[in-house]
Amino acid sequence: MSGLRGVMLAKAAMRRGRLLTRAFTSNHPKPYTVPEGSWGSNRAARLELAAAYRGLDHLGLNEGVSNHLSVMAPRADGGDEEVMLVFPEGLHWREVTASNLVGLDSEAKTVEGEGSPETTASCIHLSIHKMRPETKVVMHTHQPYVTALACLEDFEIRPVHQNSLRFWNRVAYDPSYQGVAYAFEEGERMARILGNKEILLLANHGVISVASTVSMAFENLYFLERAAMVQMLAMATQKKLREVPEEVIRAMAPHYMKRAQNYADDLFYAIYRLLQQSQPDFEK
Ligand SMILES: [Zn+2]
Repeated sequence: MSGLRGVMLAKAAMRRGRLLTRAFTSNHPKPYTVPEGSWGSNRAARLELAAAYRGLDHLGLNEGVSNHLSVMAPRADGGDEEVMLVFPEGLHWREVTASNLVGLDSEAKTVEGEGSPETTASCIHLSIHKMRPETKVVMHTHQPYVTALACLEDFEIRPVHQNSLRFWNRVAYDPSYQGVAYAFEEGERMARILGNKEILLLANHGVISVASTVSMAFENLYFLERAAMVQMLAMATQKKLREVPEEVIRAMAPHYMKRAQNYADDLFYAIYRLLQQSQPDFEK
């Protein structure tokens, strides 16, 4: 195929929405189908995001009706600007469906659906999406073990277990809690500390996970919780921690990262299929 013909085909596919669908997912087989085009891509993002809310609720990683998950998705009406999909204020995560998510423009105005998110969702998520446009997905929780770890003076994830090693060099730490994030400046401050990492541990607060796919952001939160749980249980013995030598981690990390998206897809779409059985209304 000539270079020019390849470019033309890619542009045609993008117009039909095929490539847009991949902006927040991998090409792993999906347990759902959507039509081509912007509406279908928007629908896919809504399905995955609703499954993420339900899945993290099922795993006990959310808190009350707080915390937020968001995805940058093509607009359902085919408009040029993407929308940030997020759940509206007051819903429980167990009540989130693909259709009751709202879409915000870059000024935090609701342009899809009814209602608006709680203020901190706009301040944290829109700021991070703007400063890390390649990530597409931002998830913020106060999940128990990670948050308990973040309440310690030294709140680093230590390489004490196989689950911890996957986070080597991928975590940023914000040691200076500034109060509830009611201003865009606070979201921008968090985004600056996050830098090019995928996880931000927020002292006295919780955690933020960013990724280019919903499955990866989701899986990172799950395994970070497991890593923090094992670390905290080990620390509770007050015995000396046995850390994995750095040369072992350095040797393993590239092999793990090559498979990371596939592992994330396997977990996320397994949870998705379980939700289709136990809570099928999330796809409404
Ligand atoms: Zn929070």
